[in-house]
Amino acid sequence: PSHCVVDIDTAPFKGSIKLNTGLFIDGQWVDPVDSKEMIDVINPSTGKTISQVSLGSSKDVNIAVKAAKMAYKTSWGLKCPGATRGRLLTRLADLIERDIDEFAALEALNAGKPFHIAKAQDMAGVIQWIRYFGGWADKIQGNTIETSEQKLAYTRHEPYGVVGQIIPWNFPMLMLAWKVGPALATGNCIVFKPSEMTPLSALKFADLVNEAGFPPGVVNLVNGYGTTVGQAISEHMDIAKVAFTGSTLVGRKILEASARTNLKVVTLELGGKSPTIIFDDCNLEQTVKWASLAMYSNMGQACVAGSRIFVQEGIYPQFMEKFTAIVRDLGRATGDPFSSTTRHGPQVSKVQFDRIMGYIESGKESGATVHLGGARHGTEGFFIQPTIFTDCTPDMKIVKEEIFGPVAAILKFKTEEEVIEAANATVYGLSSCIFSENISRALRVAHAIESGSAFVNSAQTVESSVPFGGFKQSGIGREHGEYALATYTQVKGVHVNLGMMI
Ligand code: NAD
Repeated sequence: PSHCVVDIDTAPFKGSIKLNTGLFIDGQWVDPVDSKEMIDVINPSTGKTISQVSLGSSKDVNIAVKAAKMAYKTSWGLKCPGATRGRLLTRLADLIERDIDEFAALEALNAGKPFHIAKAQDMAGVIQWIRYFGGWADKIQGNTIETSEQKLAYTRHEPYGVVGQIIPWNFPMLMLAWKVGPALATGNCIVFKPSEMTPLSALKFADLVNEAGFPPGVVNLVNGYGTTVGQAISEHMDIAKVAFTGSTLVGRKILEASARTNLKVVTLELGGKSPTIIFDDCNLEQTVKWASLAMYSNMGQACVAGSRIFVQEGIYPQFMEKFTAIVRDLGRATGDPFSSTTRHGPQVSKVQFDRIMGYIESGKESGATVHLGGARHGTEGFFIQPTIFTDCTPDMKIVKEEIFGPVAAILKFKTEEEVIEAANATVYGLSSCIFSENISRALRVAHAIESGSAFVNSAQTVESSVPFGGFKQSGIGREHGEYALATYTQVKGVHVNLGMMI
């Protein structure tokens, strides 16, 4: 099967990373059954090809599902003690930690993330998540339920068997960890599809799955397009659950595919248009930093991005002055992801670049003011300046739709009641940030916002132990923490007769 060697000769990472570029099925690297077609993997900092990886099809998905079913029957699931599953996950986390620089380099090269951020945030998170769920593996337990003296009733939390997992390109390794951690801890086998745009780090991950000693077939990786491999996963009759992160549009298709086929359980982490709400009585120095992080981290390519920034009128001029200075600094730190001073890299692809530039045009046409940025950065790659729009109104596309880029819409407000209503006037409900030193007000607003997460006086500090997911059209189900275990297990109620006569 094919493999490639990725050479990176930019400080801080120097070296060659050997990657198998085929499909990882049943613990082996294989070529797709049908086609020799490959997909170009692009470096978003230059627009040039890094390498090519194999493209799977529905036939490969079938083979992967068979391998996963066999592994589930013979060596995984309830056949494998939780403590053993936990030890394997812990070993896997250790191996990822050993190779953290290579992973961070692949994320920088393929996803355009600044290397030091990919290492300190994405990859540190990956290791934390896999370890955290390793710790849960021997703590999956049901309950006994008191009914009568003549009966013993108890529950078992059983794995689904084979689960499908489909992820996007914005956090290739972190999204992978969020998905595989709880699935493996609870004893499921996996057929996994990375984004066709950012497949490289997952290829390296698959090698470590083998090195850690997971039985063959427990984790299978099929690279390919959404409309072929992704659709085959979501329609498969032997896949009992699908977990998806990506756009609301594709989330709907996955739910429809489930309805059409075997009614598989579907959990969805979808888009957002999250509000950041800034009250007059906030700690301004801290607030501007958090608000900037909320909006611009990962070049705005985060489902939780705080892209509607509501500022109370009393603090508006001071906020704008300090916020603009911070975002201007971020703009100056735009460039090569491998440079230690870079904090803002390229957008992931030409398609995303064009989409975001389209939104910037739409903002201008609809009468909003470009307060900062609003243009391409440089002449090579897919860089966009961190952008701030002011004079925004609720009907504008840039206020209503998820842009998934470094584009903030600032809206002024007067009262708490008014901002709650405005913040909730969206089909999304993923996250929110509330800034106020009045804790009663901050919590009152955090509770009133229709979102699955609320950050008070902070932003984006997700934890492996705290549930995460969407209200409204931002998703179904929760990841992280004990809540995630519930989405990877099905509950059986067992009734045992201890003396009832008929
Ligand atoms: P997408 O939803 O098209 O793709 C996500 C994943 O789903 C990819 O692996 C893709 O191959 C797969 N997919 C596509 N069509 C499919 C289908 N019919 N059946 C099964 N799987 C399918 O998202 P994208 O193209 O990567 O990005 C488009 C937009 O989605 C972004 O601009 C952004 O608004 C949103 N997005 C949200 C998140 C998030 O974290 N919530 C992440 C990435 C993108």
